[in-house]
Amino acid sequence: MIGMPRFVADAMLGTLARWLRFFGYDCVFTELPDDEVLRRARSESRWLLTRDRELASRGPRTLLVKAERLDEQVAEVISRLGLAPAPTLERARCGSCNGLLEPTPRAVVQTLVPPHVAATAERFRRCTECGRVYWPGSHSRRIVARMERMVAVARVVGAAR
Ligand SMILES: [Zn+2]
Repeated sequence: MIGMPRFVADAMLGTLARWLRFFGYDCVFTELPDDEVLRRARSESRWLLTRDRELASRGPRTLLVKAERLDEQVAEVISRLGLAPAPTLERARCGSCNGLLEPTPRAVVQTLVPPHVAATAERFRRCTECGRVYWPGSHSRRIVARMERMVAVARVVGAAR
């Protein structure tokens, strides 16, 4: 997505990375050593997200994530960068691997998902990298509800700044 910041999250922030992907942000998660993480962030123009104060001090586009809890961590990232993401999965990337999702016909995925899902889900998207299949349902509704809370927390955090 043009204009959207891209991220690399260090080893302590895997869950944060997954939720930023749900919002549509390109967020790589890596357990590489600090020097490699920094190099990757620089070479790919990514914001480095870390809970390591020393690592955060070593780059210009680094963000020290201070919050302990997930909702506050997501709120911290989006409010500190002045972002206003929509709480929707329409732009989501694969939560598992950061791959792009593409619309996929029912016939292609029907053997890959539970039978009741294959029969009833409205539409499907599949990760172009790992092949994971996504569909709207109760699980995605719970995710969106939590994204709405995260955006609301970000507004409060942003206003207090
Ligand atoms: Zn994937």
